[in-house]
Amino acid sequence: MDQININTIPEPILKLVQEFSKLPGIGKKTAQRLTYYLIRTNFDDALSLSESIMAVKNNIILCSECSNITQIDPCNICNDPIRDKTRICVVEEALDVLALEKTGIYKGLYHVLHGVISPVNGIGPEDIKINKLIERVNTLGFREIILAMNPNLEGEATSMYINQIFKNKEIIITRPARGIAIGSDIEYADEITLGQAISGRQKF
Ligand SMILES: [Zn+2]
Repeated sequence: MDQININTIPEPILKLVQEFSKLPGIGKKTAQRLTYYLIRTNFDDALSLSESIMAVKNNIILCSECSNITQIDPCNICNDPIRDKTRICVVEEALDVLALEKTGIYKGLYHVLHGVISPVNGIGPEDIKINKLIERVNTLGFREIILAMNPNLEGEATSMYINQIFKNKEIIITRPARGIAIGSDIEYADEITLGQAISGRQKF
């Protein structure tokens, strides 16, 4: 009897497993499970998935004001006439905006940095959206800047850097109260904890 070589996995399968493995939180096992699920699924569902991925890549842009992800520019938050335009909340990622919006407590504007200062990883202030923040603060005259970075070393370094830039201005710089556990991400905080943290924010 001919021996079956189990290593001859078709190239398209290997490729898809490899692509899934690049996603955050997806290990090799999960990547394989997702791939074999898609092989079994019907053509329309698979097509819908691939089209959704391309639609996100083709239609989602960064807001020219706050750098949040959006389909229209300026985004719905920057465009909203009832938002409190005297406050700006600085966050690391677009997902943090989503988390803060879910609390329903904060009504001001946002600024998404798309990263944090991290000398270890070679990321400096010029690599994230800090210049745009400086420009907005200088032209729009906010009364308060809320630094809602993740409570870890890099988030802290980024907060301190931004605080340094604006500390001599007529502007209040605050940060969320420490209801958020040290070492955890804003994105993962539950709504109540995050809501309390943002309403009990403290002067930086
Ligand atoms: Zn915006």
